[in-house]
Amino acid sequence: MDDCIFCKIAAGEIPATVVYEDDAVIAFDDLNPQAPVHTLVIPKAHHAHIVDGVPAETLAAMVHAIQEVARIKGLDEGFRVIANTGEAAGQTVHHFHMHVLGGKPLGENLV
Ligand code: AMP
Ligand code: ZN
Repeated sequence: MDDCIFCKIAAGEIPATVVYEDDAVIAFDDLNPQAPVHTLVIPKAHHAHIVDGVPAETLAAMVHAIQEVARIKGLDEGFRVIANTGEAAGQTVHHFHMHVLGGKPLGENLV
């Protein structure tokens, strides 16, 4: 997708602090972290959000990448995964991504 910032990160056209990468997905640190660990996992293929025709194997690759991020970042105490989907959820980048948040107690509230 032209003008999609996460497609450009996936293509290596703009820099990111890459945590994990394989053929299907890439994980990189969020530019504006909301917790000591705040990493985004994205598919390399463009999908607007989690219910935009994402193949099952891509979802499996993303969950695997989340496991790798948790291992690499040492999130042994626990972490939170969030996929903001659509405007009501505050999605600002319209390329499917999962936030991996941790590195401090996050509390019980989701919102
Ligand atoms: P969302 O509100 O779920 O769409 O989250 C988009 C996230 O992308 C925000 O947390 C931003 O800080 C993050 N973000 C935007 N541009 C970049 C970038 N170039 N590199 C890393 N993270 C980014
Ligand atoms: Zn994209």
